Amino acid sequence: MKLATKFIHAGTEPDPSTGAIMTPIYQTSTYVQEAPGKNKGYEYARSQNPTRTALEEALAVIENGRHGLAFSSGVAATDAVLKLLQPGDEVIAGNDMYGGTYRLFTKVFEKFGIRFSFVDMTSIEAIRAAITPKTKLIWTETPTNPLLNVTDIAAVTTLGKQHKALVCVDNTFASPYLQNPLDLGADIVMHSSTKYLGGHSDVIQGALVMNDTTLRDQLYFIQKSCGAVPGPMDCFLVLRGIKTLHVRMQRHCENGVAIAHFLRQHPKVGKVYWCGFEDHPGYAIAKKQMRGFGGMMSFTLKDDHVEKALKVLSSTKVFALAESLGGVESLINHPASMTHASIPREERIKNGLSDSLIRLSVGIEDADDLIEDLKQAIG
Ligand SMILES: *Cc1c(COP(=O)(O)O)cnc(C)c1O
Repeated sequence: MKLATKFIHAGTEPDPSTGAIMTPIYQTSTYVQEAPGKNKGYEYARSQNPTRTALEEALAVIENGRHGLAFSSGVAATDAVLKLLQPGDEVIAGNDMYGGTYRLFTKVFEKFGIRFSFVDMTSIEAIRAAITPKTKLIWTETPTNPLLNVTDIAAVTTLGKQHKALVCVDNTFASPYLQNPLDLGADIVMHSSTKYLGGHSDVIQGALVMNDTTLRDQLYFIQKSCGAVPGPMDCFLVLRGIKTLHVRMQRHCENGVAIAHFLRQHPKVGKVYWCGFEDHPGYAIAKKQMRGFGGMMSFTLKDDHVEKALKVLSSTKVFALAESLGGVESLINHPASMTHASIPREERIKNGLSDSLIRLSVGIEDADDLIEDLKQAIG
């Protein structure tokens, strides 16, 4: 089945009791049983909910996986993966990634005896060098938030298999429309469904997709035992979002191309971080593993003073100054003080995330209006 058809029909069947074409929002906490232990597969809504089941099936379909699990947020999905580990286990993660993931790893899980090494994931050699017999998980985000670095997923999964370490790919930036890590050998795909899957900035949610049934059962056990499950209304919203993912992503990609090239030729703009430029170090890999380059990019000004960047950030009228990304509306963000403030400044600077970096989530408005807005803001 081609992508467009798959995205629209994934997981949804007409409701068996009424024929309703959209999966109903099963706003219930429990299910009446015929006799003790005799039920229709639904016992208590932390463990199962039909709206969530439909969404979880859809998640599996769109990521070419066998099993999907939905969580109350992206970080709750990440948290569940980390709970597969034992004290003493080691994790290798990228040195350029979402600030909340870094915070969860270093401020929550280090306390429980899990060790993390943060490496440059564009270098397979750097990952290999960090592997020890205790490495149980390789966590990678590609393209990265916010510097749009690209990791070679197939190369990392080969390395993971050689060393019996699970590989989990945070596929939030690309979305399943542009990239399917399970097809490249990843064990788990993670999403902040808050972003492109939901697509309308109206829900917080997370997802995991995998092929291995034992792994699914372990993660399902964590999901129901720890309880970070999304409510049925939120599941409905993400299910609805997925139906238009392909058309939204096509426009995000088109607008992304237009804005990236506009920025690059602007005399006041310094560096533009976007993996669709042919001279981007990750371009060849991105071209190989992605179907397009998406709507995320970052840039600096030639006059690299923080105040100048802050002025641009407060001057846009169409781009709204806000955290988050992947919605239909364009957002502008200051990683140093917003999405990545939880990473110590020294770490950030060392890894190339300067105080003056500006991140854009290019929405699906008219590209001319977006360019005009950036023109007046940059001045
Ligand atoms: C937003 C985000 C997350 C966290 O997801 P939440 O839904 O906010 O909990 C994780 N990874 C990336 C790349 C993100 O952008």
